[in-house]
Amino acid sequence: LMGQMMDVPLLISSLLVHAEKYHGDAEIVSRTVEGASADNGTTINKGIHRYTYRDAAARARQLANALTRLGLGDGERAATLAWNGYRHFEAYYAISGMGSVVHTINPRLHPEQIAWIANHAEDRVLFFDLTFAPIVDGIAAHCPNVKAWIAMTDRAHMPAMKNVQPLCYEDLLAAESDAYDWPSFDEKAAACLCYTSGTTGNPKGVLYSHRSTLLHAYAAALPDGLSLSGCEVVLPVVPMFHVNAWTLPYVCAMVGAKIVFPGAALDGTSVCELFETERVTFSAGVPTVWLAVLQHLQKTGHKPTTLKRMLVGGSACPPALMQAFERDYGITLVHGWGMTEMSPLGTVGNLKQKHLSLPESEQFAVRLKQGRPPYGVDLKIVDPEGRELPRDGQTSGDLLVRGPWIIDRYFKADDSPLVDGWFPTGDVATLDADGYMQITDRSKDVIKSGGEWISSIDLENIAMAHPAVAMAAVIGIAHPKWDERPLLVVVKKPDAEVAREELLKHYEGKIAKWWTPDDVAFTDALPLGATGKVQKNKLREQFRDYTLP
Ligand code: ADP
Repeated sequence: LMGQMMDVPLLISSLLVHAEKYHGDAEIVSRTVEGASADNGTTINKGIHRYTYRDAAARARQLANALTRLGLGDGERAATLAWNGYRHFEAYYAISGMGSVVHTINPRLHPEQIAWIANHAEDRVLFFDLTFAPIVDGIAAHCPNVKAWIAMTDRAHMPAMKNVQPLCYEDLLAAESDAYDWPSFDEKAAACLCYTSGTTGNPKGVLYSHRSTLLHAYAAALPDGLSLSGCEVVLPVVPMFHVNAWTLPYVCAMVGAKIVFPGAALDGTSVCELFETERVTFSAGVPTVWLAVLQHLQKTGHKPTTLKRMLVGGSACPPALMQAFERDYGITLVHGWGMTEMSPLGTVGNLKQKHLSLPESEQFAVRLKQGRPPYGVDLKIVDPEGRELPRDGQTSGDLLVRGPWIIDRYFKADDSPLVDGWFPTGDVATLDADGYMQITDRSKDVIKSGGEWISSIDLENIAMAHPAVAMAAVIGIAHPKWDERPLLVVVKKPDAEVAREELLKHYEGKIAKWWTPDDVAFTDALPLGATGKVQKNKLREQFRDYTLP
C-alpha cells in the first residue's frame, strides 16, 4: 500500500521560492569585491551591498534566463571562482535551480590544479570575481570547454584581460526579464560539484544532488545541528568554495536568517567590523580564522556585542581557543566535524540533557569532542580487518560513515570508495556510548611509536594552551628504535618568548610520559592548505632530514 501524499521533489529552487514568499524582506548584506565605488543600482554604502531575499530571488531568475540564452544545458556545469557575496549566492540558486550544476572551485589552489579541475568537470561557463581575473587569464588557453567567462561585476569595473573576453555579469542580468519558472525534475539530479583538495594525487569531485542538499540543510538547521532560525544573523567566514560554505547559503534561505557575506576581507579587523555593524549572532569558520579573530580582539580590546555562537570545524578546535572565547567574550564555540564527501555535516558537539547537571569542566570536555551525528548520519569505528570496535570512548579505530548526504561515488570514477556500503573517512576516532565521536588523527598523520599510536591532535592542543604559542603542529620523525617519534613544531606569538625545555615541561602530567615530543622546532609559519588547514605532508617534507636529539 502506497502513501497518498503529494509527490513534491526536494529542489534547491524551492528554498529560494520559499525565502522570497515567507521572509522576502530578510536581508543579505555583502562586502563587495569592488570596494567603495561599486554601483549597480542597489544601495551601496562604503563597499557594502545590501538587499533582500526578494531581490536575490528576482536576480537569480534573471541570471537563469541569461544562462539559458548562453546555452547552458541540463546537468552541464557552470563554475565559480568567487568569494562569499551576493552574486555568488545568486549563481548558486540560478545554476542549480535551472537544472545545471554549480561547480565551486577553490581559488587558493594552484592555477594548474584549477585548470585540471575545470577540464575534468567539463565546465561550460565560469564565473569569477575581479580578484581572480589573473588566474582566469592564465588558465583560459588550457580550458577549451569553457564557452563563457563571466566577470562578477558591473560595466564600470570590468577587468582588462589578455586572453579572454569576459562577459559582464550586470550587463547579462540587465538584458533579462525576471520572469522565469523554475523547472521541476528528479530530486536526485545533480545540483553542485565540489572537489576535495587532493593533497595526494588529483582532486576528486563530489557531486551533490538536490535531495542530498535539502536533507542536509534540514539536519543542519536543527537545534542539535547548527540551531539556526529566522532570528539569527549569520556570517559565513567559511568560503562558498569550501563545501558550499558548510551549507549556510541553503539553511539561511530555508529558515529566513539574515546573511552577511564578508567578501574578500577575511582578516580579523574586517570580520569583527561586520560582526558589529550588522549585529551578527552566528558565524562559522576553521580554527585558524578564529585564532586570527581572537588575536585581533586581544590586541584591540574590543568585545563583540551581538555574537553568541561560532561553529568551528575543518580541523580540531584547540581547547584553549574555545576557552578564551567563552571566558573572555561569552561566545560559545560549537565544534563540528565533516568532510567534502559528507556535504559536509557529520557531527556537532552539542550537549545532551544528562550533561546539563555536570560541572562546567566536564561539560566542556564533552563539547570539545567532535560531537554526535544528527539523524541521517551513521558512524562506526573498525579495526584493520574491518571488525567493528566497541563504543567505549577509549578504543580508537578507522571511522566509517553512511547516510543520504554522504558520497556514493566520486564524479566520473569507475569504482566505488565504499566498503560494505560505508564510506571510509580516513580519520581515526573513538566513539562513546552516547554517540560522541572524537578524532585522534587523520590516518595518514598518525604517529606510530614502538607499535603504539600517539595522537598528534592531543599533543597540538596541549601546546596551543601555552600562552606563548600561536600555532602548533606535531609530526612523526623517523626513529631507529621506535619507528617514529613526535616532533613539536611551533610558531610563537609575536613578541612572546619560550624555550624548548619549558614547552616540553608543559606536557608533564597531561599525557603518558612516552607521548612527550622528543624535540621542539621553532618556525615562522606553518604551511597552510587551500582550506586553511596545516599541511602535514608539506611539514613532514620540510623536516624530512631532521635529526632528533
Ligand atoms: P579538504 O578535503 O578540503 O581538506 P574537508 O573539509 O573535506 O576538506 O576535510 C575533511 C577532513 O578534515 C576530515 O576527514 C578530518 O580529518 C578533518 N576535520 C574536519 N573537521 C574536523 C574537526 N572538527 N576535528 C578534527 N578534524 C576535522
